[in-house]
Amino acid sequence: MYPKLTIDIQKLKSNLDGVARITKDQGGCSLMIVTKGLCADPVMTEMVTRHPAVDFLADSRIKNIASYADSARKAGKQTLLLRLPMACEIEEVVKYADISFNSEPETLRLLDAEAAKQEATHKVVLMIDLGDLREGIFFENEQDIYDTAELILSLKNLELYGIAVNLTCYGAIIPKNDNLSQLGEWAEKIEKKFNIKLQMVSGGNSSSIYLIGKGELPEKINNLRLGEAFLLGNDTAYGSKLPGTTDDALILEAQIIELKEKPSLPIGEVGVDAFGQKPYYEDRGIIQRAIIGIGQQDTDIGSMEPLDGQVDILGASSDHMILDVSKCGKAYKVGDIVAFKVGYGGMLKTATSPYVEKAYR
Ligand SMILES: *Cc1c(COP(=O)(O)O)cnc(C)c1O
Repeated sequence: MYPKLTIDIQKLKSNLDGVARITKDQGGCSLMIVTKGLCADPVMTEMVTRHPAVDFLADSRIKNIASYADSARKAGKQTLLLRLPMACEIEEVVKYADISFNSEPETLRLLDAEAAKQEATHKVVLMIDLGDLREGIFFENEQDIYDTAELILSLKNLELYGIAVNLTCYGAIIPKNDNLSQLGEWAEKIEKKFNIKLQMVSGGNSSSIYLIGKGELPEKINNLRLGEAFLLGNDTAYGSKLPGTTDDALILEAQIIELKEKPSLPIGEVGVDAFGQKPYYEDRGIIQRAIIGIGQQDTDIGSMEPLDGQVDILGASSDHMILDVSKCGKAYKVGDIVAFKVGYGGMLKTATSPYVEKAYR
């Protein structure tokens, strides 16, 4: 059945080998693999769980973590919730995540009370915002950072496991030696003030891995959290390809349902499209237009690359995607399959859509 996302587990495994060589062997960090980009696909997470280089499995959704917490723990890996817990999911967080990222005193108190109830110790990583302006205590609010660390240390069923920063995802700020060094300094200040040792100083996601190759990851950083680098082989700071990885472990295929010669410009008064946007069309004269059975509901058309380089993506509505196949060497016909590599947005949406079949290789 189509549309179909084919996941090449062997290629993902070599990507994992590749990022492990950089992160662990070269960078001296522990390795956290982030599963959310593929919606914690069970075959992918099983491979990750079995891989000896992986120390932590992480996701932003507790539902995803719940699906693999048991097997990950049996394999000796810890599970971690990357997104700050919602008050409504505290019970599941304590149950399925060994560790969670936090920044709010109210949430920390809820976690402590729930951990007491479940007779567990829940590990907490305190998030510090170094300027990307998503989650974490703003780095200039020193007292707030110390007070929150002190609160965690005072709560009996919580353990202050470490500190972390996230960059690039929202503010698009690139991790560098100077901003990440501040995280290292914060780790040292907290360790000194409270006379403790932090297990984890987590220096970011797939946008931080490039610093290892340049020898610029600060000494004190001892963990990276990798989703896209592992799934798509991308350094997301500058968009370069990571050595030892491929970008075609995930292939999306869709089937042609109509193939006709038509003009490239719509005819009549132009209003707005299915998503309220006023479209712009380039006049290419009469072209061969192929419609494939996939749409905006299933994918992000700006995040797909046809394997046939002569196929041109023109646009899509919810359930139809339109291609210009005029310049193709191959003579496409109705029923043919068109294949694409996907980027992060395309991967996320196809993995989430119940209309996209999954297959493994
Ligand atoms: C999604 C996420 C990651 C992984 O990001 P990639 O760019 O896919 O490596 C790491 N940390 C946090 C907090 C995240 O939300």
